[in-house]
Amino acid sequence: MSQVYEAIIGLEIHAQVSTKTKMFCGCSSNAYNAEPNENTCPVCMGFPGQLPVINEEAVRKGLIAAIALNCNIPEVSKFDRKNYFYPDLPKGFQISQFDKPVSEHGSLKILVNGEEKTIGITRLHLEDDAGKLSHIDRGTLCDYNRSGIGLMEIVSDPDMRSSEEAVAYAKEIQIVLRYVGSSEADMEKGMMRFDASVSLRPVGDTKLYPRAEIKNLNSFRSLESAIKYEIKRQKKLWEEGKAQSKDITVGWKDEKQETYFMREKEGADDYRYFPEPDLPPLFVKRETVEEYRGMLPELPYVRRLRYVKDYALSEGDVYLLTENRALAEYFEKTLPLTKYEPKKLASFITTVLIRFLNEDAKDIQESPVTPESLAELLNAVESGKISNNMAKGEIFEEMYLKGKSAAEIIKEKGLEQVSDTGEIEKVAVEVLAANPAIVEEYKSGKVKVFGFLVGQVMARMKGRANPGMVNDLVKKLLE
Ligand code: ZN
Ligand code: MN
Repeated sequence: MSQVYEAIIGLEIHAQVSTKTKMFCGCSSNAYNAEPNENTCPVCMGFPGQLPVINEEAVRKGLIAAIALNCNIPEVSKFDRKNYFYPDLPKGFQISQFDKPVSEHGSLKILVNGEEKTIGITRLHLEDDAGKLSHIDRGTLCDYNRSGIGLMEIVSDPDMRSSEEAVAYAKEIQIVLRYVGSSEADMEKGMMRFDASVSLRPVGDTKLYPRAEIKNLNSFRSLESAIKYEIKRQKKLWEEGKAQSKDITVGWKDEKQETYFMREKEGADDYRYFPEPDLPPLFVKRETVEEYRGMLPELPYVRRLRYVKDYALSEGDVYLLTENRALAEYFEKTLPLTKYEPKKLASFITTVLIRFLNEDAKDIQESPVTPESLAELLNAVESGKISNNMAKGEIFEEMYLKGKSAAEIIKEKGLEQVSDTGEIEKVAVEVLAANPAIVEEYKSGKVKVFGFLVGQVMARMKGRANPGMVNDLVKKLLE
């Protein structure tokens, strides 16, 4: 029988702290859309004699994220220099945190294929980013706008066993960071990236074997593909008895969907860490930690459980609604204003409203249809004034595009649903009279044509008739 292997996966996530300025200087941290080297100064360019100053807001947001990730916050932490040379690092070192990070020992719950799993978080620490190099034909271009931007590095324990778990964890980190406002975590803007450590071991073994660290993955898709590829590559090595004997660092080639060898992995010794002499230790008061803890919003995992329990929503809708805090809040604001069932409301928001917003590239906060006006529309459906299809179709479209209320549109367009038996019956009689052959077919047992007759009545009434009543009346007239 062939040996079965399991994958041991850990992630390092770098997420940009959402602050106006960089980690240790006053330069703008908006590197996206800026002209090359527009946001630089002697501090983030590493000029001699310049002194860094800790960005208080970055510390605050880092702590809030750490508390949301169940981390312990030690009273004292400190910054250290991590020394290495690279053209994107003008200081010749990165200011990071080595042995006393701002937080450690956290955890995060994820759900994979319906099963809950807790992933340990080793630490979340603060550091500054490097610049960006672009290699062109004639040489290399250096842009230092990113240089010195504040980052949170979130290191997980090696608790994941598949690429699916790694992606679920990474997505959940993104959602939590956005919930608490610590990072926009927008990968297209370079605000979040992953390094994934992967190793294999025979199932049943408890030892950890040398790993490959895949550097700088910048999408969930590449994270998933790179881990899958690495598992396959290492499995082959194990089967050939050639499993790697040292930790290595690899890169990911998206075009080829392959990892490639970069170097043997550097250890902490290689970086000659030492305490940053220009920054004092960081003291965090216990009251501050408790104050921040008290300010945390309901976190996505808790919110999901509540939605499932209280509203009996489908798992898909729960995920869609809760992955964005503002969207969940929109749902919760609308709900008490309408008699519409939670399930139907969730589906209206996740299908109709989101489709319009997506086409428009708008956030839910910018929705022209407010919770109040959406509730008014849905109440008109509940009371039988208009049909559900009309609400989802032309009425909602007008509300969204022209900012009018449901009542205005219904009145203007004469869309009010007809629930007057006499009026519907009159049209139904006309339809039956105009389709004698079809009526005969129905009477001879071809009941399928019933739908056609109902459709004709609805069409003549321009979709305004109460569908339930049309059904009843046509049936009555045929019998
Ligand atoms: Zn600067
Ligand atoms: Mn780092």
